Amino acid sequence: MKQVMIVTGASRGIGAAVAALAATRGYAVCVNYKSRADRAQAVVDAIRGQGGTAVAVGADVSTEAGILALFSATDRELGPVAALVNNAGILETQMRVEQMDAARLQRIMQANVVGPFLCAREAVRRMSKRHGGAGGVIVNVSSAAARLGSPGEYVDYAASKGALDTMTIGLAKEVGAEGIRVNAVRPGSIYTEIHASGGEPDRVDRVAARVPMGRGGRVEEIAAAVLWLCSDEATYANGAILDVSGGI
Ligand code: NAP
Repeated sequence: MKQVMIVTGASRGIGAAVAALAATRGYAVCVNYKSRADRAQAVVDAIRGQGGTAVAVGADVSTEAGILALFSATDRELGPVAALVNNAGILETQMRVEQMDAARLQRIMQANVVGPFLCAREAVRRMSKRHGGAGGVIVNVSSAAARLGSPGEYVDYAASKGALDTMTIGLAKEVGAEGIRVNAVRPGSIYTEIHASGGEPDRVDRVAARVPMGRGGRVEEIAAAVLWLCSDEATYANGAILDVSGGI
């Protein structure tokens, strides 16, 4: 029986790369998306084309109803979840803090903090040996922004990732004895479409000179770190926050 992995926000970018790599490592993958069903189906088709197992599940993981629907669909279509990758995340147009309104702050915190918390809750309810589960792994996709603060661009986003880091540490300690490892990866600037949401599609090229390695990162380089944390090579990694950011 294949182990089941849920990757939130797997229709594009880092999540799509995690889903593709997970399938080659033998996971049956739930490819979650919010609205781009076509992109999610392309990820699923590519996995199936290589003999892997995947399903696409549309669900807004910034809402509790969406998260409950996502986990029920996974239970039904693939079986009990063994790995959760809390990858879905958003940022909004670059601006200074004094320009931000409450609605924006709530959207960011809902998508980047409340959503991952509730996904983790659903995963723990299914994985924890305390509840009769078989154990499992959770990987949170944070950001180097949690350390850097993103001044003048999106301090709200950076703060949401700081919260995710703290959740990683606390939850790892809370469920470590119940067969669940919880870790995070903090990517630096990676070539994906997220930067267009910030209003600067070519941001990675602009900031590359500031990165000690002198370049932006590729989604495959983040996926490799996520899959390592999920793997049996990382059985003593718990509460770890792994920077994969070219040294920044
Ligand atoms: P992306 O290219 O913009 O892709 C975002 C993905 O998340 C899409 O699959 C999107 O689905 C999905 N998504 C967004 N909101 C969702 C929701 N409410 N419910 C379900 N799915 C949702 O983003 P990315 O750059 O790959 O980023 C992935 C993660 O890495 C995020 O947490 C981000 O903060 C983090 N990160 C990225 C970078 C970077 O430089 N790219 C750096 C550090 C951290 P649809 O296709 O349906 O819209």
